[in-house]
Amino acid sequence: MSEASQLRSIYDEVAKCNKCGFCQAVCPIFEITKDERSVARGHNVHIRKLIEGKLELNKELKDPLFECLLCMSCVDNCFPSVQTHKNVVRGRAEYIKRVGQPTILRSLFHNLLPDQKKMAKYVRLGAYGKNSGMSKLARALGVLKWFGKDFDKAEGIIERLPTLFFRDRAGDFTLAPENPTMRVGYFLGCGFNFVLPHVSESTVNLLVHQGIEPVIADNCCCGLPASSYGDLDAARSMARKNMDILERVGVDIIVTECASCASFLKDYPELFEDDPGMLARAERFSRRIKGFSEFIHDRMPTTEPTKIMQAKVTYHDPCHLCRYQGIVNEPRTVLTRLPGVRYVELPESDLCCGAAGSYNIMRYEQSMKILDRKMENLKKIEADILTTECPSCCIQLNYGVRRAGLATRVMHISQLMEEIYLGQSCD
Ligand code: SF4
Ligand code: SF4
Repeated sequence: MSEASQLRSIYDEVAKCNKCGFCQAVCPIFEITKDERSVARGHNVHIRKLIEGKLELNKELKDPLFECLLCMSCVDNCFPSVQTHKNVVRGRAEYIKRVGQPTILRSLFHNLLPDQKKMAKYVRLGAYGKNSGMSKLARALGVLKWFGKDFDKAEGIIERLPTLFFRDRAGDFTLAPENPTMRVGYFLGCGFNFVLPHVSESTVNLLVHQGIEPVIADNCCCGLPASSYGDLDAARSMARKNMDILERVGVDIIVTECASCASFLKDYPELFEDDPGMLARAERFSRRIKGFSEFIHDRMPTTEPTKIMQAKVTYHDPCHLCRYQGIVNEPRTVLTRLPGVRYVELPESDLCCGAAGSYNIMRYEQSMKILDRKMENLKKIEADILTTECPSCCIQLNYGVRRAGLATRVMHISQLMEEIYLGQSCD
């Protein structure tokens, strides 16, 4: 099969780009690099030339193709609405088919992320290494550079890793309220399970407080990391596995507090566009998915708050919530209804924070420039609490406030709600 033929189905999409350049003004990467190859227009021109056989897919194209945040800002500012984020993923898929994929990523996407027990063993090993100072030794020896040139610097983004994950502790929670009003599936994302398990605790506690019975599904990774790196086969395989598992749970609604998981689970039909049987099944599945604020905004607690916050609270829009799912009002509705909360809008609240999955690890320096802008905006409003709905954003923003020396607390909305209605602190 020729290089061009793999991408031919998106030819009409890339050809919609009229080369106006409006995307330059909103692309966080172009803002830093000023390199035409890294903006939407550049990506679409490259892919078009590839299909037309006027350009070779080689390592020269790797950097521009893989440095895109997939943030969708360009799509919002593009008159013909060219789906550049999807075109870039297809370009990456073509790249790994032609040039190859690092063994570590192949193993992650095909062996670890689909098998959460196996994944847990590796993350726990990493956590013991990090928490015991072994990573300092590895840094001194230069071993971390094997994972990428910026990896040793990026290692500080996460202060400590838990060794007990949410799934290990799920049995400790009372999951059935006395008189449940409804039963929902709970999709546990990898970021919350392995890095921020206290956020999952908050979500589950709050659902139970609301009389909702969350059934914790034995799901695997949603597949977004694999898809983002262009490994669509691995993403499809995880999607099939998750649909099998969640269909067996037998619920009408599946809730996840991870904006990125929600977005990708809703996008499962796109993985099966060429498979009519699976497409219909994925469409039924995706209609059941609800993100946290999307689910809770019209099921707000009516009980008296246990704690009055009296805090100035703001909100950062995760790209996978505001642009991928169009969910903008729901989190704000929730926050403005919370007792004691004085809501203030964050300037450029929908500007990507620079985390973009593992972007902050693989491309630390660029990611920090984007994060610095977010922190400058945060300083302007002097908020006590910065909320969001995505684990990558939570981790990155936490690092941002530590780095900038700010006293602002970073919380998922479910943590803030738990603190107000159940009086528990989940930091
Ligand atoms: S804004 Fe859209 S049409 Fe204009 S150059 Fe960028 S991608 Fe092309
Ligand atoms: S998705 Fe984001 S980073 Fe990528 S080209 Fe568009 S605006 Fe730039």
